[in-house]
Amino acid sequence: MQKAALVLFSGGQDSATCLAWALARFERVETIGFDYAQRRRAEVDARPGFIAALRERFPRWEARLGADHRVDMGELGQLAETALSPEAQARMTAKGLPDAFVPGRNLMFFTYAAALAYRREIQVLVGGMCETDYSAYPDGRDDTLKALQVALSLGMEYPVTIETPLMWMDKAATWQLAFELGGDPLVQLIREETHSCYLGDRSKLFEWGRGCGLCPGCGLRASGWQAWQEARAVSASG
Ligand code: ZN
Repeated sequence: MQKAALVLFSGGQDSATCLAWALARFERVETIGFDYAQRRRAEVDARPGFIAALRERFPRWEARLGADHRVDMGELGQLAETALSPEAQARMTAKGLPDAFVPGRNLMFFTYAAALAYRREIQVLVGGMCETDYSAYPDGRDDTLKALQVALSLGMEYPVTIETPLMWMDKAATWQLAFELGGDPLVQLIREETHSCYLGDRSKLFEWGRGCGLCPGCGLRASGWQAWQEARAVSASG
């Protein structure tokens, strides 16, 4: 087993799966979350519940799961405030990026995480970035993060590795990975306790989790769940 990892855990499906991925590989796993935008509040608020349930339902991982660090980046949210107005929340921009897009935010998140990792003597950062997402944020692409890994290692004179286990997976494969890591109990936990809805709606529980059922965040999650169910049905019949 590898020694230690710091997981960028937002409270969403992807980073929750990455947290389980890290717990299966590292002796010590810590988490960091960034509070930067009101519209992400439901996601941030989902974090402690998920972590508590993970500890309770997965005793084999409990001992490895260390501190959770929450960083207030409210000024980053203010910087992008116009793009984050309620009216703009679920709309897409001309570029096809959701309006919540904060330019370069992952560069900042990883830089904060690396500074913390340095202090905590952790050399591996884990993030749930994914190029197969419809949005494909440029700051979460593989080339960007490889360049950032080099910049951080040089700039801190400390060897930092950025791991992105979901980079080339679609949402169905992400559910499958969760299943392989923790079986149905982990799938259930991610379904119930993580958050992807852009409107912050947690009032309705669908097959694929909580949300409004209408926004792009819910749509992506629902279609991934559906594709995974179909893939499972095919493999069960074959
Ligand atoms: Zn939604």
